[in-house]
Amino acid sequence: MNMDALYKLTHGIYILGSRDGDRPVGSVVDAVMQVANKPWILALSCTNGSYTKQCIEAQQEFSLSVLGKTVEPWVIANFGFRSSRTVDKWKDVKHFIQGGLPYLEDNIATMHCRVVQSITYDSNTLFLAEVVGCVDTKSGEPLTYYDYRSYFKTDVINSFNKFKSAEKEEKMSEEVKNEEGKHWVCTVCGYIYDEETPFEELPDDWVCPLCGVDKSYFVYE
Ligand code: FE
Repeated sequence: MNMDALYKLTHGIYILGSRDGDRPVGSVVDAVMQVANKPWILALSCTNGSYTKQCIEAQQEFSLSVLGKTVEPWVIANFGFRSSRTVDKWKDVKHFIQGGLPYLEDNIATMHCRVVQSITYDSNTLFLAEVVGCVDTKSGEPLTYYDYRSYFKTDVINSFNKFKSAEKEEKMSEEVKNEEGKHWVCTVCGYIYDEETPFEELPDDWVCPLCGVDKSYFVYE
């Protein structure tokens, strides 16, 4: 099977928001679609390793911010390449909190959803959720996952690397540089692993936070 075929099913890219107690958490999701209109139900799929997914299970609600084609690449890098376990992603983007849930300021639409059902697969959890509030913020074409893969990804990766080098420069005065500046890099999407836990100590079921492939797809370079 050539799984590239699946990338021809079009869907968008969204910022998913939830909360860990009072702390806002979030991630990038692409697998969202409306599946009923009486009541209004969305299907959302999250990878099981996602911290935001755990928070949705605890809170049984989430927010969605729909991204337009003019969104800053940094927004996707911030939410896609970092984990809410270790950083507050929302503090690095303009956002607002409504009903306890975080929303991106630069959105073209927002939705507030309550989970009504969930199904767990080995890799993902599928949430079926009722739309209890939504705002059609402004006109603009939604960014699709196809846009992301075909031309937007490079800008996202560049903005992340720029952020990382700025962050590293800050740290350099205090810390010794890691060995030869090598990193574990995802061969599928280019994500650079740079969290505190050594890559070797990550659990076997850990997956790339951006594209979802397992550890075997990473190379040390
Ligand atoms: Fe990846």
